[in-house]
Amino acid sequence: MAATSGTIQFTCQPGCTKCCEVTGYVYFTEADIRNAARFLGVAKAAFEKQYIYRTAHQRRMRKPRGKGQCHFLKDGGCSIHPVKPVQCRLFPFWPELVGDRKEWRKTASFCPGIGKGELIQIGTALEQASEMTTAYPGFY
Ligand code: SF4
Ligand code: SF4
Repeated sequence: MAATSGTIQFTCQPGCTKCCEVTGYVYFTEADIRNAARFLGVAKAAFEKQYIYRTAHQRRMRKPRGKGQCHFLKDGGCSIHPVKPVQCRLFPFWPELVGDRKEWRKTASFCPGIGKGELIQIGTALEQASEMTTAYPGFY
């Protein structure tokens, strides 16, 4: 059910990488691709060739061979942390999660930051989450 009022509680937990391990795709915006390539010191075209699968409307990371969901998850955490894609930077403040109590509770089953720390107005969280709709217009 959509929730637009009330509060949620969330503080990302140091050292946690659970949201990088759950099954799913990592989507990049054009700016994310540019920033990640620059951060890694490779040409944008080379970065795309190695990591990105393009559909008509989306750019998603190719799955790594073997186990794992993301090429950039290393022992110490996200190896492109300063330039990680929008969806990673905003998680779990995604419209479909903060606006839906049931989905928020489901997310809490793997995200240990939910229910800890700061109380945040749902309206404020939705404002932050709205960046998802501009970053990935094909999904919203
Ligand atoms: S699962 Fe939650 S607490 Fe863990 S890194 Fe992701 S957002 Fe932070
Ligand atoms: S890019 Fe970084 S934050 Fe995003 S899923 Fe991969 S390791 Fe996690």
